Amino acid sequence: MEFDTKLLHGGISEDAATGATSIPIYMASTFHQKKIGENQYEYSRSGNPTREAVEKLIADLEDGTRGFAFASGSAAIDTVFSLFSAGDHFIVGNDVYGGTFRLIDAVLKRFGMTFTIVDTRDLDAVAAAITPATKAIYLETPTNPLLKVTDIAAVAQIAKDHGLLSIIDNTFSSPFVQRPLELGVDIVLHSASKYLGGHSDVIAGLVVTKDETLGDKIGYLQNAIGGILAPQESWLLQRGMKTLSLRMRAHLANAEAIFNYLNHQPLVSKIYYPGDPDNPDYEIAKKQMHGFGAMISFELQPGLDPKAFVEHLQVITLAESLGALESLIEIPAVMTHGSIPRATRLKTGIQDELIRLSVGVEDKKDLIADLEAGFAALQRSTQNVSNSSVHPQA
Ligand SMILES: *Cc1c(COP(=O)(O)O)cnc(C)c1O
Repeated sequence: MEFDTKLLHGGISEDAATGATSIPIYMASTFHQKKIGENQYEYSRSGNPTREAVEKLIADLEDGTRGFAFASGSAAIDTVFSLFSAGDHFIVGNDVYGGTFRLIDAVLKRFGMTFTIVDTRDLDAVAAAITPATKAIYLETPTNPLLKVTDIAAVAQIAKDHGLLSIIDNTFSSPFVQRPLELGVDIVLHSASKYLGGHSDVIAGLVVTKDETLGDKIGYLQNAIGGILAPQESWLLQRGMKTLSLRMRAHLANAEAIFNYLNHQPLVSKIYYPGDPDNPDYEIAKKQMHGFGAMISFELQPGLDPKAFVEHLQVITLAESLGALESLIEIPAVMTHGSIPRATRLKTGIQDELIRLSVGVEDKKDLIADLEAGFAALQRSTQNVSNSSVHPQA
């Protein structure tokens, strides 16, 4: 089955009991066991038909064999790290999601796990970081917010050669754009709160494996730890996922149009977009992604105030998060990445003038007109400052 067809007919696409084409929300904590040990479902933490529908669907979409749904992306990540033990060492990408870094730094380290942070685009650095205690390589590609692209197949091969697991957070791409299991990765996970849910109305996490034994281990931990996705949210998530391809095509086309617009905007000094032919990662992105995603980051000319720009926008929503139908814009330095000390942030390349845009599915003419009005406002505010003899900041 092709990807678009799987979205509708993959997983469990109708209710076995009634033929309902929309999976019912099974609000049951327990199930009548007519004969002990013969039930498909026993207790909803261990298994629930509504959750199972979304779990089978994500397994199909990522070309895996086992899928698992959690109460959030963060719960999914924590459960995956629970495969490991005190003393285990991990290689982690240098610009992973802030919440993942927090989990590693503030929680997992207390349980005796150790981490080496590397730029996973540098394959020699990845290999050099491996120690006898290393158990896994954990990365995101493209990264947040600089959208750096790592060669997934190459990292998966390094992991295989050294008997390590490779784990990818695929949130920024969704399985429409990128399917890491096909490239040899062992575990794919998602914050389904972003593109998979798509409508800014559900918090959820998903994990997929191809290897059944590894899948069994994650299933065991899902039940043991219990951070499961509830039936209502499972239903809402699978409903959102049905339109993933329709939404992603619109997201990708708008992102390309906005990239072309920004590329000719003189107040923009730098653009980070894997689909930019001048981006150093362009060839790898082209090789492993189906389309280039719909996240674009850009820097204003040095000294320009990104707040004056984003606060002026009328259509594009100033908000954290991404992957929504609505276009969302934010300033990493003071919002998503505000907790990183400024010196560290600048060292990783996140300038004060950086803006991150999650391109939505509005009409691109309105999005570009909105950006245009924002740049005009920025131009006026800079002229006012330079014409004035009063410099309140000085
Ligand atoms: C949002 C996000 C997460 C965390 O997911 P929640 O559903 O918010 O817990 C993890 N990874 C990435 C890349 C994200 O964008």
